[in-house]
Amino acid sequence: MLLNPETPPFLQKAPHVIDDGVTKFKVTLKFSTAPSTAEVVGLEKWRAILWRLGLIGEYPNEKIGYGNLSQRLTAPKNAFVITGTQTGERPHLKREHYTRVLACDLTRNSVEAQGPIAPSSESLTHFAIYESQPQIQAVFHVHHPELWARLIEENAPAIPEGVPYGTREMAEAAARIIQSDEGLFVMKGHQDGIIAYGPTPEVAGKALLRLYRRLGPRGGEGPAGQL
Ligand SMILES: [Zn+2]
Repeated sequence: MLLNPETPPFLQKAPHVIDDGVTKFKVTLKFSTAPSTAEVVGLEKWRAILWRLGLIGEYPNEKIGYGNLSQRLTAPKNAFVITGTQTGERPHLKREHYTRVLACDLTRNSVEAQGPIAPSSESLTHFAIYESQPQIQAVFHVHHPELWARLIEENAPAIPEGVPYGTREMAEAAARIIQSDEGLFVMKGHQDGIIAYGPTPEVAGKALLRLYRRLGPRGGEGPAGQL
């Protein structure tokens, strides 16, 4: 698969509101070894693909990373491995850029993590999705201004504007729109934000590729034509 590694021009302009990269929650990080290769390999494969499409990256002016991927761990309940905070600009991650989220408290906005790096600032959103549907094994959160706008235009399943992410309110809104173990939705109050989820990383990743082909940049030099 040949993909254009260059950042598409439409990503050069950062959105008005960026809330990624800003820690809105209390993290208790217990430093420990990185997750195993087996725990991250499925995520890393898809992350590399999504990064080349600009669905994961860094807003160039603000130097704020966006996009984060997670996969459920077998234990404890609703625990998951997730990309670390501020890793968006890297095309490839090592195990040391991933960490484990062991527990979350949506009422207190607190996250308990264990690993070599603090978890993504959007860990509470991932947690809310795992909590809502036990069959969901992978959650991919990406950013894309065109896909985001077009999904809103076509009335795709959405977290309404005004629901702050990573809160109990957000968890309840997610639970309402998540009807099965696979799908995607748009976050109206979170500029450019889209979430895909599935019973495997493959399912979540392919849902985003289908979306990109259907609604993404067309023709010319863009990566869509090369997929
Ligand atoms: Zn985001």
